[in-house]
Formats: sequence, structure tokens, C-alpha cells
Amino acid sequence: MSARLTPLPMTTIVTTDLIGITRGRSFPTDELEHYQAPGCGWVPANSALTPQDSIASTSPWGAYGDLRLIPDLGSRVTVSNGPDVNAPPLDFIHGDLRETDGRPFGACPRTLLRDEVERYRDDLGLQVNAAFEHEFNLHADLAEPPAFSLEAQRQGAEFGGWLLSALRAGGVEPEMFLPEYGKHQFEITCRPALGVAAADRAVNVREIAREIARQMGLDLSFAPKTAADAMCNGVHLHVSLLDLDGQPMLYDAGTSNGLSSLGQHWAAGILHYLPALCAITAPTPLSYERLQPNHWSASYACLGQQNREAALRICPTSTLGGKAVAKQFNLEFRAMDATASPHLAMAALLIAGRLGIEQRLALNAITNEIPDSLNDEQRQARGIVALPASLAQALDCLRDSAALNEWLPKPLLDSYYALKTEELALTEQLSIAELCEHYARVY
Ligand code: GLU
Ligand code: MG
Repeated sequence: MSARLTPLPMTTIVTTDLIGITRGRSFPTDELEHYQAPGCGWVPANSALTPQDSIASTSPWGAYGDLRLIPDLGSRVTVSNGPDVNAPPLDFIHGDLRETDGRPFGACPRTLLRDEVERYRDDLGLQVNAAFEHEFNLHADLAEPPAFSLEAQRQGAEFGGWLLSALRAGGVEPEMFLPEYGKHQFEITCRPALGVAAADRAVNVREIAREIARQMGLDLSFAPKTAADAMCNGVHLHVSLLDLDGQPMLYDAGTSNGLSSLGQHWAAGILHYLPALCAITAPTPLSYERLQPNHWSASYACLGQQNREAALRICPTSTLGGKAVAKQFNLEFRAMDATASPHLAMAALLIAGRLGIEQRLALNAITNEIPDSLNDEQRQARGIVALPASLAQALDCLRDSAALNEWLPKPLLDSYYALKTEELALTEQLSIAELCEHYARVY
């Protein structure tokens, strides 16, 4: 009699692409060594996939060409079990796309981020410490408890408990699971990580949350808006810059808002390039239903202190708990949602901030007022510009930004423009309710 079969555990090498979708190929876990150096095969045209699952017809890639997806072993995530005892273990490793001869592939967002993090280290003597906060909708049952309530927390508690446990097992260092303002809306935060690991961690949060939801039979979505009357889901990126010894560099106790002169130039760079950055951080037609006044997201390029209507926010620090203010001090970028690629979005922000430092840009657009309550003249006097009102406008701003076009690799931009143009055409007939439903299914 032959031995009884059991399913083989599989490990997946993944790449999270230009539209923030994680894709990959799996092999038997006991053959990992075999895939370590050469990675697995990959197809360049995958870089031009739209959220509608079409390969953009005007992309630089066709039926030809082959790549390797090389695992970065230190980024491995293993979660051996979850609420469904029969579910196979979740085991994946982030990878970098390379040509078959080992040269980097120009449209790999993880490679772009690594290159930029290295530029911070080599040219500026800085390390980047960052954390992504995620909001999402979890349709557990029909009850609609009050916002932020314990009842809402209890509604999501079983999912939340499994999520925290699985995140810990996956090395993600979760912080808080909390009910949000919207119905069935929750938020998960995790501790910051250095460089590329911060963006990997954002992917890990999304994929582990999806895994737990799948195992529990729950409907989960990170889309910026899941129904026409729903509260929006944001992704907020908290950034601090450290010197090579790990000392925080954004804070200076001697300035009025605590921002060091380095921090001011960095923030000025983000705000200067923000209309163009939106094409990358708020990259779907639906993103612009969120980037509106009075949504606590962002609709103008300005910096605010503890101001949730500002695109860039100086986060609160506390005198309680004994942690030095400089170590708590960080900037929060709010004009982002989960339809963005964490690696690409973080890389683009870092490029903008670096240009702000290198060009010694002055920080003007500061306000603690609600930017939408100012009139045009007041905004103009403060240098506060409106963010694009649509993806098409944001893409035009990106096309017009010579500096960003110089620093983003051409193969990546060509793929991006091609797929975003196709995405706009494929979704232009959809009503807002249909857009919400459509993107809620994809993200
Ligand atoms: N839901 C808001 C957003 O779309 C953020 C609310 C908050 O400040 O937590 O970004
Ligand atoms: Mg929140």
C-alpha cells in the first residue's frame, strides 16, 4: 500500500507590482535552496497589468522577454496557521525583478525603492524609518455599532485577534487594531521599519489581513471607498529620517513647529512635487473620491501640525511615557490609499523629499487652519495649491514634472503611463457607486 498523501507546503516568491497587487510563483518549501540564487521566472508584460486585469496594449512589453524574480531571503513571511485549521501555511518571500543576466529590471518598484534608500545613505548620510497605517472595511455582520465604540471593536475582535497574532508570527510588529469612524471600518498600525522593509511590511499587513479574512469567510477591502456612502480608507505613511548612527534628524526643539531645517526642506520637497506624486500615491479614479475637503484625507498641498486635513502632518508627540520627543517626532503623509504600490509610492516620496533637501526648497505652505476654509487669495499667499481633482489631472502633473521623470526609470514610467491610460478608459463609464464596488473587489 502506498503512503497516504498530504498537501506539500509551498513557498511563494512575490513581487508587488506598479498597481500594488502582489503576485508570485510557488514551489515546494523543501526546494527553497534550489531557487535561492536564480529565483523563478517572470514575465515583463506583467508590469503593465491594469487593476482590470488587462495587459496595457500600449505598454513597452509584449509577448517576448523573460525575467527572474530573485527572493530576498531576509524578507520571508511565514504564518503557519490561522483560524481555519485546514488552510495551508502562508509562506512568501519578497523578490526583486532582474534580467536573466542579473541586471536590474527597470520597472521593478522594489529595486527603485532600494536604490533610493541607498541614495539617502550614500548622498545624504540618512536612514529612512517608516510605517504604513492601513484602514479597511470588514463586513462581518449586519450590525452597525457606533463609531470607535467598544461594540464595534468586539464586532471585529475575533478577526483582530487572529490578525495581530498572524502579524506577529510574520515579523510585522503590529501595534494597534482599532474600530474607525465608518461602519465596519477598522485600522491596523504597526511599528516602523528601516528602508525597503517598511514597504514590504505594508504588503505583509495587506496579505496577512486578506489571509485571515479568507480563512474566516469575511469580506475585506482596503479600497479607498467601498460604497458611495462609505467613509474612506486611507493609507498614511509615517516617516522619520535618522543619521547613520540612528539619531533622529527631523526634530529641532528650537523651531516653532519642531521641524529641523533638514525636515523643512524634506517637507517642502514633498509639497512641491505633491500634485505630480498624487498620480502614484492616489493612483486610481476612485482615489479622487477620497482626496476631497472634509474627508480627513488631503485636498491641498500643505503641512499642518496635528491637522488631519493637511496632506502632510506633523504628528503629535507626548510628554507622557518618558520617550524623547525627537524619537517620537515624525511626518505623516496622508494623500495615499491602498490602490498605490507601497514600494513605488514610498520611493517617489523619498525622491521628492531628497530633491527638496538638495534644492534647499523653502517650506511655505504651512497652515493649521482647514485649507478648504481659506479663500483663494489666502491660499495663494501661503503657497497652498489644490491637489489634482482626478487621476487624469494627476497624470498630467506627473508628465509635466521634469524632475520626477528624470528620477523614475523610463521603463517603469512607460509601463505606468500605459496601464493608467488604459485603466482610465476601462473605467470612464462607471458611476461612483460602480467604481466603489469595482475597486473594492480588486483591493
Ligand atoms: N479615513 C481617513 C482617510 O481616508 C483618515 C481618518 C484618520 O485620520 O484616521 O485618510
Ligand atoms: Mg485612521
